[in-house]
Amino acid sequence: MKSANLLMSSLGTTVFEVMSALAREHQSVNLGQGFPDDKGPQEVRAAAAEYLMNGHNQYPPMMGIPELRQAVAEHARRFQGLSVDWQTEVLVTSGATEALGDCLLGLIEPGDEVVLIEPLYDSYLPMVRRAGGVPKLVRLEPPTWRLPHEELAAAFSDRTKLILFNTPMNPCSKVFDRDELDFIATLCLKHDAYAVCDEVYEHIIFDNRRHVSIMTLPDMRTRTVRIGSAGKSFSLTGWKVGYITAAPELMKTIAKTHQFMTFTTPPNLQWGAATGLRLADDYYSTLAGDMQRKRDRLANALTDIGFDVLPAHGTYFVTTDFRPLGFNGTDDDFCRHITVEAGVTAVPVSAFYDEPVRAPRHFARFCFCKHDETLDSAVDRLGRHFRR
Ligand code: PMP
Ligand code: GLN
Repeated sequence: MKSANLLMSSLGTTVFEVMSALAREHQSVNLGQGFPDDKGPQEVRAAAAEYLMNGHNQYPPMMGIPELRQAVAEHARRFQGLSVDWQTEVLVTSGATEALGDCLLGLIEPGDEVVLIEPLYDSYLPMVRRAGGVPKLVRLEPPTWRLPHEELAAAFSDRTKLILFNTPMNPCSKVFDRDELDFIATLCLKHDAYAVCDEVYEHIIFDNRRHVSIMTLPDMRTRTVRIGSAGKSFSLTGWKVGYITAAPELMKTIAKTHQFMTFTTPPNLQWGAATGLRLADDYYSTLAGDMQRKRDRLANALTDIGFDVLPAHGTYFVTTDFRPLGFNGTDDDFCRHITVEAGVTAVPVSAFYDEPVRAPRHFARFCFCKHDETLDSAVDRLGRHFRR
């Protein structure tokens, strides 16, 4: 029999699925895959439920229901000062994952170079490669994860089609500062490249930092593609409602890709997401404040146990160095060990690198977007295990 696509058939199963399956098998407290255990805002769920029962449950418009596209545009004005035309510049997708796929398959021509920043979210590289892109990887180094300007400049060339990056950044919880964004923008302008920015954690940002979209920087408005997710902004990760904002010329091709990927997204969930995007400012400040408090709760407790916990400026995650605990194996070994022996699951950070063998092997990522009792139970189990 002929073989399937070699690139896709050679992939492993994503680390999130692998670790969640292991967590289920061992009934561990799952701080691996990033999902909240809160139910999400009541108004948002009620709006989706009401629409499901009484609304129009047939194919919505391909670009998304007008109410959600309008809400995305209003939200961009409220939080980023961007003026967005909801009819030509907003597309609703089935999660940020589809949005990323639409952008990469829609924008990359085989042989185009694509600049990516390691550590990186797991869908980026396979999709860039499947689109025929040639990845140019630039690595951030712990503990500061600062952008290395020289390396980044060297990764760009006139063959660069786009840079794809994520801020606030999963897994290392870095937030790109204004200077770093300016530097990326300068390179995009110099080399006539697009910036595809995964901003799913735009509202999960701490210590009075403010999310800045690279789309707001001078001359970047028409060459940036901005991606958001209702899953993250409303703690409803199973919904898979994403949204893309891009100038009309770029959007046209991205939408043509979307039409043959999913075509649409469930209308009641779109209605719910529109309700969420219209929530008052205090919903968003409370979300960030609650997550910051959870970060501190988990980070302080892990520090007490003996982990070296790296700073986390945004996202759902803290990165921890487990070597001070005296564990000598790899991060894969460590995450499996604590799942089986301590009853707590984390994710190995080397999974966020192109070649895990060349990645740092001493970091585990823990997710803190959980009820206090869940966090306390995880900490209690780890404490009992490592203080034995
Ligand atoms: N990008 C990043 C950085 C993520 O952490 C995630 C995980 N949820 C996604 C994209 C995918 O988002 P969605 O669930 O909306 O597809
Ligand atoms: N974004 C989530 C994480 O980083 C997982 C998403 C998924 O399971 N695909 O944990």
